[in-house]
Amino acid sequence: MCDLLHPYLDIHEEIHAAMAEVMTATSFINGPQVKAFAEHLAAYIGVARVVPCGNGTDALQIALMALDLQPGDEVIVPAFTYVASAEVIALLGLVPVLVDVDPDTFLLDVSALEAARSDKTRAIIPVHLFGQSCPMDAILDFASKHNLYVIEDNAQALGSRYQQADGKWAATGTLGHIGCTSFFPTKNLGCFGDGGAMMTHLPELGDRLHRIANHGQRIKYRHDEIGCNSRLDTLQAAILDVKLKYLDAYNAARQQAAARYDAALSSLSDCIKIPVKRPDSTHVYHQYTLQVLGGVAVRDALKAYLQEQGIPTMIYYPLPLHRQPAFENRCRCVGDLPEATRLAESVLSLPMHPALTEAQQTYIAEKVVAFFNKKR
Ligand SMILES: *Cc1c(COP(=O)(O)O)cnc(C)c1O
Repeated sequence: MCDLLHPYLDIHEEIHAAMAEVMTATSFINGPQVKAFAEHLAAYIGVARVVPCGNGTDALQIALMALDLQPGDEVIVPAFTYVASAEVIALLGLVPVLVDVDPDTFLLDVSALEAARSDKTRAIIPVHLFGQSCPMDAILDFASKHNLYVIEDNAQALGSRYQQADGKWAATGTLGHIGCTSFFPTKNLGCFGDGGAMMTHLPELGDRLHRIANHGQRIKYRHDEIGCNSRLDTLQAAILDVKLKYLDAYNAARQQAAARYDAALSSLSDCIKIPVKRPDSTHVYHQYTLQVLGGVAVRDALKAYLQEQGIPTMIYYPLPLHRQPAFENRCRCVGDLPEATRLAESVLSLPMHPALTEAQQTYIAEKVVAFFNKKR
């Protein structure tokens, strides 16, 4: 699904040198590389502050902690996403309010926002799922009209850009109050373990996020509020600082691979739907996700057939959040969420990473075509 080896081999000397520097300085926690990487990432995406932390889930949790919400307050989140987006809401004693997603783009359906709102609604977590931006203008307008916070879950879309109504392009993660991202190894910018970050235009909010991630202390051993311990290791920061220089090239390689899949699979429009790209967003293809028409049995048969041909595929995500046992009685659903339910039974993600070769993709596309030809 994701080749982590070859991109590493391509730059291993640079990575080893950066790691050796940390190890010989023994600055394993909060070394200077952490601050340097945060500054470089802030400059790259165009935001005032980047606050690194332990992982993407922590980033979402700390972001919510910084908003001073009260138990029972509601946070709107899509029903079709990775569990972390909603898990942190419930963990903090808040109520995830699940809304349906757009059947073409898999992104939060903005037309469901009004029905989702109550007098307890405090925030929205749009998820830039699979690598492209949610319709942020509509979300931000709704949020400002109703005085809601917007926390972007940008774990899958680092490097993607969104065109606002005024025509200007801005990086996803910089549009709401706080953007959260993950450096899990398979993410578009991945480290060699766990890592994450929060980003914001508001310097005071940045200070608060930093303080919460650091046991609620600004001055050592003086704890102003209850926080947590969530740090990006210096080694991971050093690795990420090297890899950040290549992020645009990695994303361009993903876009090229997606275009090759699009072309090779275009003849199957009666059997599968290829990813739909929004015109107001660039797409960095964290995943290349098909919708298999004809029901869950066909999707599962295609997956099994490709597996036999040596092609890994993944179902992101096989259960929408409202069907997860953990969320039973822990969330409020807005309507029946039919699209989230249907997508869980029809999506299939093909291998996608910057090192994917044309020959590999030709082979994969041939096998997808062969599967449907057999069925016809
Ligand atoms: C990966 C991911 C996260 C969580 O990141 P971790 O670093 O694994 O904690 C959150 N939201 C989405 C959409 C993700 O894909």
